[in-house]
Amino acid sequence: MIQSKEDTLKEKCGLFGVYNCNNWNTAELTYYGLYALQHRGQESAGIAVNDNGRIFYHKEMGLVSDIFDHVVLGHLHGEIAIGHVRYATAQERMKEDIQPLVLKYTKGHMALAHNGNLINAQQIRRRLEEQGTFFQTTTDLEVLAALLSRARIRHHSIEDALVEVMTKIKGAYSLLIMTPHKLIAARDPLGMRPLSLGKKGDSYIFASESTAFDAVGATFIRDILPGEIIIIQDGQLRTITTHVSTLSRMCIFEYVYFARPDSIIEGAEVYETRLEAGKILAKECPAEADIVIGVPDSGLAAAQGYAKELGIPYGEGFVKNRYVGRTFIKPSQAMREQGVQIKLNPLRSQIKGKRVVMIDDSIVRGTTSKYIVQLLKDAGAKEVHVRISSPPVTHSCYFGIDTPHRQNLIANNHSVEEIQQKIGADSLGFISLKGLLQTPVGAKCGFCTACFTGEYPMEMTKEEI
Ligand code: AMP
Repeated sequence: MIQSKEDTLKEKCGLFGVYNCNNWNTAELTYYGLYALQHRGQESAGIAVNDNGRIFYHKEMGLVSDIFDHVVLGHLHGEIAIGHVRYATAQERMKEDIQPLVLKYTKGHMALAHNGNLINAQQIRRRLEEQGTFFQTTTDLEVLAALLSRARIRHHSIEDALVEVMTKIKGAYSLLIMTPHKLIAARDPLGMRPLSLGKKGDSYIFASESTAFDAVGATFIRDILPGEIIIIQDGQLRTITTHVSTLSRMCIFEYVYFARPDSIIEGAEVYETRLEAGKILAKECPAEADIVIGVPDSGLAAAQGYAKELGIPYGEGFVKNRYVGRTFIKPSQAMREQGVQIKLNPLRSQIKGKRVVMIDDSIVRGTTSKYIVQLLKDAGAKEVHVRISSPPVTHSCYFGIDTPHRQNLIANNHSVEEIQQKIGADSLGFISLKGLLQTPVGAKCGFCTACFTGEYPMEMTKEEI
């Protein structure tokens, strides 16, 4: 993707946690884990460590590699650590909102980090505020923490309190909680956001994606089950099942766009899933062309699958500047009008005079596709056929993706033909939903496809959305 729009799609968050039994440097391990999960959020990052019951942390706006250095990591020692990379979804961007949240409550300290969005957080927050609770951040995680600290008064343990809290909160969440003696991981009852368990030596590790295990030399063990709470204490693992036999609803957009291609989620490798999407797309919407190219990065695997299926040469259509970070000063309108294009540049020799199939993972507002079609035409493409490896996005997501309002989703109020005209393509085709659902080969979960169908995985009131 080459998003440059601050006001549209947002990425989600990444989690990493380690309960250390082997004298690893937990902060350093978490640093490398977060580094591998940087694609899940580039706005801010933080690490909290548990040093004999005292929690120390460091968190800042920016990229993992900018925030942490040897000196900072050198001050973070502890037998348990959790870390987070964030790209705000429902909330505003405030420094106080950076995770992990570190809080002191009646039973001591705890640190929390989560990925997802609680759709009833605002209502709960209002109710708690009316009862005198004050909040220091705008995050739904702090609402969860407030519920947890209240429930803890009534329960024998934090995990029992969490079981109660999970009956009160609604939405998508993968959660890590660190207390003086425990590392706890939990996943919402529908398993909408990924979270998996790994091991390195005798140490347990949790991460949003399995690629983080590879980064730190750990072994993937399994995905956390929907509704499951895992507690690591004294080096031992215990688990609580809070919801039995509900149908899981993993966000299928994880495979389409979010996750790293080298991650395995719910048993399906993301790269293979995208390759397969390209093959199915080729069968469903073939094109006559001289070359197939993908929009870096999430369109590349699908482009390879598409090209292979139709026997059309696959080529590199663009060079992407890998150093464009969030602090990059975006070109003004005036600069853009002068042709300043920093992020992506077409390879003219590959494009000129050719009939090009251009594959991207999604069309949301249509801005990116329109821009890229124009780039390709300016580079001399004879024809540009756009193929998209997900169905038209017609509905907003309330579960952590934070897509634009429904009226701003181009497929909500335009037909495929109209979108084709708007983006200036010679033809346009989307993979069908049925086709997309076949792509996570080997996945052993159900999927949330609400952004393509409007069939939301839970009932929602007007106030919640
Ligand atoms: P748009 O330009 O609004 O049609 O958005 C589609 C482009 O955004 C595609 O190139 C995708 O790779 C990219 N994209 C899809 N989902 C997201 C997301 N949640 N956050 C940022 N970019 C995204």
